[in-house]
Amino acid sequence: MPQQLMMELLANLAQVGGGGGGGHGVDARFILIVVIVVVALLLLVKGGGGGARAMHMTRTCRDCGATHPGFAKFCRRCGKRL
Ligand SMILES: [Zn+2]
Repeated sequence: MPQQLMMELLANLAQVGGGGGGGHGVDARFILIVVIVVVALLLLVKGGGGGARAMHMTRTCRDCGATHPGFAKFCRRCGKRL
C-alpha cells in the first residue's frame, strides 16, 4: 500500500516535470520535499497505530488500582503481578 502510493506520486511528478520546461533545480527540490513529507506521513501512521493500540490495552492493578500499559507484567506502584 505505501509503495503503491509512492509509485503514484512519482508518476505524477514525472508528468509534471515533462509538461513544464521550467528550471530543473526547482523540480528536484520539489521532489525532495514530497519524498520527505511522504516518509514523515508513513512514520506518523506507523507510530500512531502502535500508540493507539497501546492506549486501548491497559491493565489495572487489582490491589492498588494503578493503570499500566498492556505489555506491563508487574504493578509499578506495589509490585504485584498484573
Ligand atoms: Zn498495584
